[in-house]
Amino acid sequence: GTIGANFQATAARFAQRDALIDKPSGRRWTYGQLNDDVDALARGLLTAGVAKGHRVGIWAPNVPEWVILQYATAKIGAILVNVNPSYRVHELRYAILQSGMSMIVALPHFKGSEYQAMIEQITPECPGLKAAVYIGTPSWNTLVAGGQSQPSNAVERAMAELEPTDPINIQYTSGTTGYPKGATLSHRNILNNGYFVTETIGFTEADRLCVPVPFYHCFGMVMGNLGSTTHGAAIVIPAPAFDAAATLAAVQQERCTALYGVPTMFIAELNLPNFASYDLSSLRTGIMAGSPCPVEVMKSAMTQMNMSAVSIAYGMTETSPVSMQTLMDDDVAHRTETVGRVHPHLEVKIVDPATGESVPRGTPGEFCTRGYSVMLGYWNDSEKTASAVDAEQWMHTGDLAVMYPDGYVNIVGRIKDMVIRGGENLYPREIEEFLYHHPDIADVQVIGVPDPEYGEELCAWLLMKPGTVPLDAAAVAAYCKGNLSRHKVPRYVLVVDEFPMTVTGKVRKMDMRERTVAILG
Ligand code: ATP
Ligand code: MG
Repeated sequence: GTIGANFQATAARFAQRDALIDKPSGRRWTYGQLNDDVDALARGLLTAGVAKGHRVGIWAPNVPEWVILQYATAKIGAILVNVNPSYRVHELRYAILQSGMSMIVALPHFKGSEYQAMIEQITPECPGLKAAVYIGTPSWNTLVAGGQSQPSNAVERAMAELEPTDPINIQYTSGTTGYPKGATLSHRNILNNGYFVTETIGFTEADRLCVPVPFYHCFGMVMGNLGSTTHGAAIVIPAPAFDAAATLAAVQQERCTALYGVPTMFIAELNLPNFASYDLSSLRTGIMAGSPCPVEVMKSAMTQMNMSAVSIAYGMTETSPVSMQTLMDDDVAHRTETVGRVHPHLEVKIVDPATGESVPRGTPGEFCTRGYSVMLGYWNDSEKTASAVDAEQWMHTGDLAVMYPDGYVNIVGRIKDMVIRGGENLYPREIEEFLYHHPDIADVQVIGVPDPEYGEELCAWLLMKPGTVPLDAAAVAAYCKGNLSRHKVPRYVLVVDEFPMTVTGKVRKMDMRERTVAILG
């Protein structure tokens, strides 16, 4: 079916249950109330001239109106364009013009981001942009009020025009390795993936999911929102942007059963000075995804955060996103050391990037996937689409992976992050995993930096735990001695206060490499 029809069915079935809870404002919606607000906004959009296939942008951190707009656009078939909250004028102009956006909905401002001022600044250069609507201001109320002139069956009629294969969403990738790309996704793509992702962790209407990951990204919008609404579970917004303390407070106060996050978020939560004071006894499951999930952090989530059924998922925006996931009844080794097995109804293969031929099990190669989850394409960019999705519909992910004989997969790293030192392929992930064991290290990232002798040398960036003595290269080498081959011991060590990050909480190794070169001269 379509996202709107699926949501409507959930809302009818679980009308009295909690659907959406916004901790910062204290506002809450049952499924019945949320469906009413979604319909009111959908009617308002119709009155404003928004129709099937039109592009409507959303530019805001995690506020409840984001979710309301997600389902309102889905019901009338408008294509929601998720605009990255960290964008500035130049990138915004590109997103508006490239997607052909006719309406943008935004928070007027948040922290240092003056969304309204930036939109107003570029409006004259964007003639196709007919309307800007600001959340929490009279323009939002006017949009909703306009819907009162619609006949009572207007939304039903619009929904009846939609096909599951219609594009419904343009999602931008994180921008970890370069400029974000706009993946165009259909109802069929993301509704199915949202359903299977939470089915895997045993979701029912009794679940309450805390979502600290951004809605603009597939982790929040698909795995979070669609994952919840396909099962009648509640969505809890702890804060508009990631805040470790607010996240754990929301889990405690709302008795959340599940928590999502990228590894850096879990690390920040586990390292809160007052971590032990939070009551996390309501948690049972959750998903860690988005970048390599350190074994130690997974174990800590299981033992210190009560998430005994925590799952790792692997995927990418272009594939709706998830293609691999660990199961609740996998043993602990498989659940902490692999990204699990292939998701239902999908195919995967590991190929030699040079030849495109499948490699034997146990040999690293590029991870490729095919099936319902593969995007329709990058919006209006058939060239870029063709470079990612081949003629047989295989999505080439750019990630290196190993598939073991039992079908479980380990993500070795991104092809772009692999370090070639003296002709030897080194995978930063392996060294990061080892250094996490050091009791004083809170977080670690390893990169390659140019070297005249070896081509590349390894550099480790360390975040130290509070109250510890910073480690230098000699101390790290001493710790590695006897445990890691000598060529895997980082030549350079930098102790830092933070890593350069995307809004989705991923480390931009590209920026780390540039800064390291500048620091080392
Ligand atoms: P961009 O494509 O713009 O450079 P991005 O690839 O980070 O950014 P996303 O689509 O948000 O954009 O992320 C997908 C990528 O995240 C995957 O290709 C993979 O590299 C990484 N990833 C996701 N989940 C995992 C996981 N469980 N383990 C390791 N890596 C993961
Ligand atoms: Mg990517």
